[in-house]
Amino acid sequence: MTLPRVYRVALDMPLRRLFDYLTPVAADANSPAEAARGEDAAAQAIEPGMRVLVPFGRQRLVGLVVAAAASSDLPLERLKPILAVLDERPLIDAGALALLEWAADYYLHPIGEVLAAALPKSLRLGASAVDTLEQWGLTPEGREAQARGEPRRAPKQRQLLAYLAARDTVTADELTADIPNWGDAARALKARGWVTAAKIPSIEPPAPTGATGEAPELAPEQRTAVQAVSEEIGKFGAFVLHGVTGSGKTEVYLRLVEQVLRQGRSALVLVPEIGLTPQLVGRFRERFADPLCVLHSALTDHERLQAWRSAYSGHARIVIGTRSAVFAPVPNLGLIIVDEEHDASFKQHEGGFRYSARDLAVVRAQRSNVPILLGSATPALETLHNVENGRYTRLTLPRRVEQAAAPRIALIDLRNHAVQAGISTPAVQAMQRHLGEEGQVLVFLNRRGYAPTLLCTACGWISPCRDCDARMTVHLSANRLRCHHCGADEPLPVRCPQCGFAVKPVGQGTERIEEALEKMFPGVALVRLDRDVVRRRGDMESAMKRMSSGEARILVGTQMVTKGHDFPNVTLVVVLNADQGLFSSDFRSPERLAQTLVQVAGRAGRGTRAGEVLVQTEFPGHPLLLSLLAEGYDGFARTALLERQQASWPPFSRLAAVRTSAKAADAALGFLTDARKLARLPRNVKLLGPVPAAMSKRAGRYHAQLLIESPERTALHRFLDGWLPLIEPLPSARRVRWALDVDPIELF
Ligand code: ADP
Ligand code: ZN
Ligand code: ZN
Repeated sequence: MTLPRVYRVALDMPLRRLFDYLTPVAADANSPAEAARGEDAAAQAIEPGMRVLVPFGRQRLVGLVVAAAASSDLPLERLKPILAVLDERPLIDAGALALLEWAADYYLHPIGEVLAAALPKSLRLGASAVDTLEQWGLTPEGREAQARGEPRRAPKQRQLLAYLAARDTVTADELTADIPNWGDAARALKARGWVTAAKIPSIEPPAPTGATGEAPELAPEQRTAVQAVSEEIGKFGAFVLHGVTGSGKTEVYLRLVEQVLRQGRSALVLVPEIGLTPQLVGRFRERFADPLCVLHSALTDHERLQAWRSAYSGHARIVIGTRSAVFAPVPNLGLIIVDEEHDASFKQHEGGFRYSARDLAVVRAQRSNVPILLGSATPALETLHNVENGRYTRLTLPRRVEQAAAPRIALIDLRNHAVQAGISTPAVQAMQRHLGEEGQVLVFLNRRGYAPTLLCTACGWISPCRDCDARMTVHLSANRLRCHHCGADEPLPVRCPQCGFAVKPVGQGTERIEEALEKMFPGVALVRLDRDVVRRRGDMESAMKRMSSGEARILVGTQMVTKGHDFPNVTLVVVLNADQGLFSSDFRSPERLAQTLVQVAGRAGRGTRAGEVLVQTEFPGHPLLLSLLAEGYDGFARTALLERQQASWPPFSRLAAVRTSAKAADAALGFLTDARKLARLPRNVKLLGPVPAAMSKRAGRYHAQLLIESPERTALHRFLDGWLPLIEPLPSARRVRWALDVDPIELF
């Protein structure tokens, strides 16, 4: 058998290739024979998924071994040896490595950058994958010296020797506790060969078991769902858990995780950015004594490394995280859960490597032979399409746990009613009625700030943002104008900067609604919930508490109100404006609007009382609203999927987008126009565009896109494989930032 001599290493660089290196040379090899033995020993130690330190030009870089091979395309004498192997076992196990290679291929992105995206920064820089402790002990010479009472002139060193002689080994932390400032003494003793220090993997203490939660008796539909998935543990199967908020989905997750743990396996739970609430983590901690680790974007580098290590070591057997946790190490993976699978935050749509964590989770489950459960009250149309074509199995939780009746939804025609500060008379009357009956009211508006525009009625000036094709939003309490697209922030002018006439705020944001409601309902306590109020996690908690305790009676908020906390006393939900999503150039915007409406409506009447939902619109005859009202989300989804089929949009076709941005207005389009000219299109691949983005200028840069569409995924990929290397070296590419987005979910 020939041992592999060549290792293919991924480096964090925007290059679509691997780099070959040779087996490391044994450090103390004196003769060729010894070197050969050294090579054998080293060769056995290197496996795909381990990090290595390699020379690259004048640099030394940390890379990841992707494969071992017997030979290279380059002559062996031109290859350099690996300098050092950084891991004792693969950092990325075979299943995860296969997933990452798949992702590099599918998203047509350089493998080195894909692997880099999967690892915490400290690990990319070479930090140890295991938590280590510094352990100190005596050498035999040290023991003899201590017995002789040495060193006589150094009391601190003598004290340290005596301390160590009385114990087998101690950690640096223990030393610090007992002998302050021991460092110099220890170093001196070490130099004489009397003490040793070693790094050993630390054993994490068992987590405190706060687990006291009793599991409730499952409803029949929950039992069916748990059973269907648990029968598949040990093999791949994809399931959709379709149930409205409050129907008991989380309880199903908990039961399945319990079964997985009982079989000695671990579970990976992915949640959207906004869904990772202390309540959700709390429910897992309450139910399980097993340690869990939480991975999200707000962690510091050190916290992320610690969380990653506790997953990698197998200590944490429940891994809960947002998008990038799909790459987390989970030894002995038994199940993947994706909660709120329709949520847009699962899609990484920035930077170079753009991926869907939901879709990758399905691939990971497949590669790891484990079942995956995709939960949502409003599954993505792609997901429902996969149910229709038999790839996924749907499990339904049709009812809320504590309530039989779904809320009544009605439209309010804004053209036929008096409207005050954006709130129609019927909506105000309904609020009075529900408040009078001791109910709570939720008022939803997906726009923060006081008003979206500041207008000069004399000259028509409308608070434009200097760096965006957008208007600055009025933030009255802060006395600022702010751009929600680029973050520009300036004092609120009192007079028109153009003509000096008076200006006035036009339109409504949550801040203005709050003000209006305080006037309409004096003495009724109110809570506002949006990104301006909630700067920290704790703010959200306290707002939620005021609502759930019943102290506050009205909740005004953006999208933020649709997730998390349970408000059993909310009996009325008022949606102030449904019309933003009705007429958009993005073919996905009806789906998003329907999801938002259903999620918001789901907040009404979760207790024993039936809920009422009022949706204000200027287009009460819009087919989307009508199908949603008449047949609910399922009916809407059927209609919307038919429309997608007729227009051959995804999931009935495959899309990719090349997106560009540039400082110069013509550059963004220029590169795409050049790229288009280089396309040799097969019959079933179409190019759409290039076009400037609907909001072309954002944060001082101009944006454009070119869409690539095909009914067949393989045709699309074959085309991209041939085309990308042609457009990469284009001179016009150097004037822009550009990225490829496969399966884009937001078009502009
Ligand atoms: P979802 O995740 O779909 O919003 P949850 O699992 O959070 O639903 O359930 C909603 C509420 O009902 C929670 O308070 C939960 O503890 C409770 N619950 C869930 N399943 C049951 C059950 N079988 N019996 C009693 N209460 C339940
Ligand atoms: Zn003016
Ligand atoms: Zn701006």
